[in-house]
Amino acid sequence: MRKKIVAGNWKMNGNLASSSSLYADIVKAKASFPENVEVMVAPSFVFIPELKAKNDSRVSVIAQNCATNDEGAFTGEVSASMLKSIGVDTVIVGHSERRHIFGESIREVSEKVMILLKHNMNVVFCIGEQLDERKSDSHFKVISDQLASIQNLDPVLFEKVIVAYEPVWAIGTGETASPQQAQEMHAFIREELKKSYGNLADQTRILYGGSVKPSNAKELFSQTDVDGGLVGGASLNAADFIQIILAAD
Ligand code: PEP
Repeated sequence: MRKKIVAGNWKMNGNLASSSSLYADIVKAKASFPENVEVMVAPSFVFIPELKAKNDSRVSVIAQNCATNDEGAFTGEVSASMLKSIGVDTVIVGHSERRHIFGESIREVSEKVMILLKHNMNVVFCIGEQLDERKSDSHFKVISDQLASIQNLDPVLFEKVIVAYEPVWAIGTGETASPQQAQEMHAFIREELKKSYGNLADQTRILYGGSVKPSNAKELFSQTDVDGGLVGGASLNAADFIQIILAAD
């Protein structure tokens, strides 16, 4: 059975005090978390050491991004090896805001995946189509193109990959994919992965992201191929995020 994951992406929000207290409020509720759910939060890079110092493994602290290179003259970048050196073992890659606001290409996303796997780190690999792509019925093609970055990996490395399907039209918009739309795409993703990895793809966690809230989490997470969620806005409110964690039971 696949263990579900609920991960909060805090994006560029908060400050040291608010991030610490949000983390503390989530940790306080850990006794109520379902055993079969892994909980993760991705604060800004600069708050990671403070949260990790609280040393609570039940709510793991992950990163939102990393560089395509390990070190060198890349002003402002943070590398996978730097993250590893402070105890981060999981990094989100290819978030739609990275792809569409910062123009990250499929190739760059792929380089990030490879560098993380080289360091034996876990990858939350985000993919998702834009509204016009869904309207023109090209969403399956877009997703299969994005999946190409993770389709020729050594199977041992592939096991370190978590996929997050996040339709761009549902991110931060309040609009959510219906549970049926989510299931349809998650099943498609799993079938695509099976072409490369066979039954190993039955173990891959495929998270849904896009306006997950306490009111819709249960139905989304109960779909056969939806193994939890990557949560943006609602993860900034401890009570809402905790409700979403509980919905993953
Ligand atoms: C996200 O940014 O990954 C996300 C899913 O955001 P939201 O939940 O706010 O739509």
